[in-house]
Amino acid sequence: MKLLEERILRDGIVRDGGVLKVDSFLNHQMDVALLSDIADEFKRLFSGCGVNKILTIEASGIAIACFVAQRFSCPLVFAKKNKTLNVSPDVWTTKVHSFTHQRDFDIIVSKAFLGQGDCVLLIDDFLANGEALSGLIDLVRQSGAALAGAGICIEKAFQPGGERIRAEGVRVESLARIRSMDPEKGIEFC
Ligand code: 5GP
Repeated sequence: MKLLEERILRDGIVRDGGVLKVDSFLNHQMDVALLSDIADEFKRLFSGCGVNKILTIEASGIAIACFVAQRFSCPLVFAKKNKTLNVSPDVWTTKVHSFTHQRDFDIIVSKAFLGQGDCVLLIDDFLANGEALSGLIDLVRQSGAALAGAGICIEKAFQPGGERIRAEGVRVESLARIRSMDPEKGIEFC
């Protein structure tokens, strides 16, 4: 998606350690006109797939996923990072290693909001090692829902998540795919 690539080049900041900061327009301060255009693109890509639920993970995927859910006229559910030690039998749960926080989280979704009869589109801001996305896929599989695929804003294609998850047979559509990035040399798209 040209518009997103141009915005990343203009306002994205490449940090050491393979981290791209896009917090001036995507995941802290948010350009809602851009989010709206992103949602249109996901709607175009996944229309006709029978999507009736959007699933993301807190926190930064939620705003983008809201716009997408609006396009599909369906609910948005976000997986919560569980803060208590006790996991209730009323939730689907799995473990996710966070790239940004460098720690493990249990994520949960209430069984009341995800189950057979749902056809789920996963949405997230980044795909890097694929831990977050694999966790969401695991929740969908546990619940018996169908998986339409995953819509990702920015895929860091130099990290292995995208390739691994596509090899598992999951449709992954990324609007901007970064081949390489470096604080000095800048960003190159696939
Ligand atoms: P993964 O689980 O695929 O390794 O990482 C995906 C999650 O980590 C995303 O939900 C995103 O919030 C965060 N993330 C991964 N890489 C980056 C990055 O370069 N910049 C930012 N801002 N977040 C990232």
